[in-house]
Amino acid sequence: MTDQTMEIDLSSGSREQIRERLRDWLNVDAPISDAALMAVMNHRGYATKLGAMRNHANAVMHLLDHPPAIPAHLLPSAPTHSSRELMAKAGGSLVRWMRDGARQVDSETRDRRWQACMSCPQLADPPQNLAYAAASLISAEKKICRLCGCNVRAKGRFPHETCPSEDTDRPGYSRWGELLDIDAHKSGM
Ligand code: SF4
Repeated sequence: MTDQTMEIDLSSGSREQIRERLRDWLNVDAPISDAALMAVMNHRGYATKLGAMRNHANAVMHLLDHPPAIPAHLLPSAPTHSSRELMAKAGGSLVRWMRDGARQVDSETRDRRWQACMSCPQLADPPQNLAYAAASLISAEKKICRLCGCNVRAKGRFPHETCPSEDTDRPGYSRWGELLDIDAHKSGM
């Protein structure tokens, strides 16, 4: 996916490839810190400001040196999710869903969540392992959320599930447009 605002692909490749792409795009020789990279990927206002200052080297360097803070629990960590963790997560989510009476959200909520996930920089292809077997039972879609490791098609259908990423344009709300449930994500649900 290409971010329409920045006209730069921030969602494909490794973190180092994205970092290099960003350096080229901004015409900077200096290294880009993890904090600045994460802020670009998670804070639309910051990314837009950087894009607007692209031809002003001093302003770009100032922005890169002073990225906004992104809460640690919102930073991508999927590459470190172990297969065991992911299997436990998918299985746990199914158990909660069944305990909930196997209810699903209404179609409007499901579609709103799906659209948000499909345009989210945290959307990723799943690792090639068996950790998604449980999620695959209920969804042919394989894309996952980098932040929580969940299969987004399945996740978006479950009433108990939440999006872990804050909408930077609407503090306190997730990218799904729902109240951000910080406690749930701190406790790994
Ligand atoms: S659940 Fe939230 S953070 Fe994860 S892919 Fe969907 S919109 Fe993005």
